Amino acid sequence: MSPRGPALPARLVLATGNAGKLREMRAILAPWSVEVLPQSEFTAASAAETGLSFVENAILKARFAAEASGLPAIADDSGLEVDALHGAPGIYSARYAGPDADDAANNARLLRELDAIPDHERTARYRCAMVFMRWPLDPAPIVRQASWEGRIARLPRGTGGFGYDPLFLAGDGDVMAAELEAAHKNSISHRGKALRALVTALTEPGEDA
Ligand code: IMP
Repeated sequence: MSPRGPALPARLVLATGNAGKLREMRAILAPWSVEVLPQSEFTAASAAETGLSFVENAILKARFAAEASGLPAIADDSGLEVDALHGAPGIYSARYAGPDADDAANNARLLRELDAIPDHERTARYRCAMVFMRWPLDPAPIVRQASWEGRIARLPRGTGGFGYDPLFLAGDGDVMAAELEAAHKNSISHRGKALRALVTALTEPGEDA
């Protein structure tokens, strides 16, 4: 266990109900002596994601989780940005195929939208905004953002990860995000990079922590 830095609290709430994200984020925080509680331990409700950017939505989620739990909160907002679709599905990634869409429906819509797009134009990236707030009305959230470049395949492959991972070819290789070991995905993914940068900001505070 590494010691906590000056700004990293002993207990915090992770503002996500997404089991895939929770698994990934807990694994990344595991080396730190921090008790990480999921938001679902405090409320069955979730934040209204009314922002128009990943950062805005991450702040709304962290504020909601801090309010519901009385604890400092870490929230991420993330999604897939596809160049041929001018950045869609973007902040709407979780609900691309409709308000109650599941991963399979979202992936099916993505394949339909990209049907006529040739391989070399199927470039995309995952993006993640990661936010830490000490209290619901924390006037100085700490924010870190990161991305993970790749391409959208024509057929799904792999059983790991979640969301669009069975269609996301990592980097410029031929390995799908859903084919990566969890630890490997965490070491190169948008969420892994953003969360590690946030932990660094909390354990080695610079100007904004
Ligand atoms: P959020 O929970 O509102 O941030 O929505 C994130 C959505 O973006 C997820 O439901 C997925 O559809 C997609 N997404 C974000 N990160 C990943 C990832 O690492 N793999 C696959 N899909 C992801």
